[in-house]
Amino acid sequence: MTRRRYLTPHAKLKLWHEQGENCAECRTATAFSRMQWDHVLALCLTGTNDAHNWQGLCAPCHTAKTRREAGMRAKADRQRGYHLGVKTRRWPKLPSRPFDTRLRRRFDGTVEVRT
Ligand SMILES: [Zn+2]
Repeated sequence: MTRRRYLTPHAKLKLWHEQGENCAECRTATAFSRMQWDHVLALCLTGTNDAHNWQGLCAPCHTAKTRREAGMRAKADRQRGYHLGVKTRRWPKLPSRPFDTRLRRRFDGTVEVRT
């Protein structure tokens, strides 16, 4: 996975101007200080730190995007784990219902052996 690196303040300012001082997603005017810097393609999903993989988002868009990526991120982490041979925890098998399946309970409550 690519190491996380950050944009220089100069690069951020340049990007902010290129985006017309707006959020890259909803196009709402966003002050430079309120801008959140996002990897267009997340690092864990083979994204890079290249200038073209960065965008400035407003806080609500950034939160929403991060949430959208959560499933993909979890899957990528899982696959990376399998690839590296990491043992994952398996949930214990659920016990079968506490009723002997060889028996049958009728609606009136009487129990009889299945035939
Ligand atoms: Zn936005």
